[in-house]
Amino acid sequence: MNILGIETSCDETSAAIVQDGTHLLAQVTASQIDLHARFGGVVPEVASRQHVVDITRVVEQVFRDANMTWSNIDAIAVTCGPGLLGSLLVGVSAAKGYALATGKPLVGVHHIAGHVAAAMLTLDGGTGATPPFLCLVVSGGHTELLSVDAKFRFTRLGGTRDDAAGEAYDKVARLLGLAYPGGPKVDDLAHRGRPDAFAFPRALLEDDSFDFSFSGLKSAVNNEIVKRKNRGQAVLVEDVCASFQAAVVEVLVEKTKRAAVHTGARTIVVAGGVAANRGLREAMSQLAKELSISAMFPPIELCTDNAAMIAAAAYPRAKQGRWSPLSLNAYAQLPLVDWQDENWPDVV
Ligand code: ATP
Ligand code: MG
Ligand code: FE
Repeated sequence: MNILGIETSCDETSAAIVQDGTHLLAQVTASQIDLHARFGGVVPEVASRQHVVDITRVVEQVFRDANMTWSNIDAIAVTCGPGLLGSLLVGVSAAKGYALATGKPLVGVHHIAGHVAAAMLTLDGGTGATPPFLCLVVSGGHTELLSVDAKFRFTRLGGTRDDAAGEAYDKVARLLGLAYPGGPKVDDLAHRGRPDAFAFPRALLEDDSFDFSFSGLKSAVNNEIVKRKNRGQAVLVEDVCASFQAAVVEVLVEKTKRAAVHTGARTIVVAGGVAANRGLREAMSQLAKELSISAMFPPIELCTDNAAMIAAAAYPRAKQGRWSPLSLNAYAQLPLVDWQDENWPDVV
């Protein structure tokens, strides 16, 4: 079964064709990073307008790259939430238009289910993760610990009470004067600094919950920078990045460890943009070794937003012939746990 995926929830206009939920045949992504960089973050109205400009040529290009036509496509998957409403609407409207014009069935996909499904994809014919598994989602807007069952349904174990992990990376990058998006830059600099240079806080480790909190860490980094500047001391950016990353990774790994023990998981999956982080990948692989289980990550290029993950997430539903109506809407906020529900997303 070949699924055309469409993703426009934030600042990437992406289309992909995925075979049987696991094999990426082609993907085209128009990134708006340069457009938003001068504002230091994504400007929603600018983003939705650019999606309108790019969506048609991106979809047409993915068909050319895959050497396919609509006759090769079995279903259309589109992100219908959560995300920027104006941006989501462009993808949802395009997908509905294509569905109406071609008669192909439609599947509305939860963006975070997509990030999780990225770990099930392979680029080179290898094998990706197969549910059930424990999943840590660490993205720009989410930090969630989820138990994913064999039918790709989710149970939420915990999540952030304030900032998401990626958000913390981007805010710290901004404090250090690094250009948007700062996560990958902090990752690079961290590898050249001392992780024990500063004792930044590890929030909620004493708490039994599987919840996280990153806003205090961001404030601690800010306080340290201000204190040093006031004293006329140099701020070694590499040391700040390394110490910040050590604090984030320690908390993510420790909570994931507890959740793995609690659920008896045999596989840990780390997904979302921050899953591209080298320090986190190394630490999670080490944890898996310690627990004698396996750790799996999406291919690096499929950690941040892309359409392949949306097509992959739609596959378990599509296989059962559970389609979304042409009245499918876009939702800025959308609960995750219900997403495999019979009437999803009409339940919201
Ligand atoms: P959400 O998926 O929650 O709606 P989003 O789509 O904006 O949010 P993603 O595209 O999944 O987020 O991920 C982007 C985030 O990942 C940004 O915060 C970015 O800084 C972070 N990120 C990307 N690469 C790295 C890296 N190597 N190290 C740390 N953070 C990274
Ligand atoms: Mg993005
Ligand atoms: Fe995302």
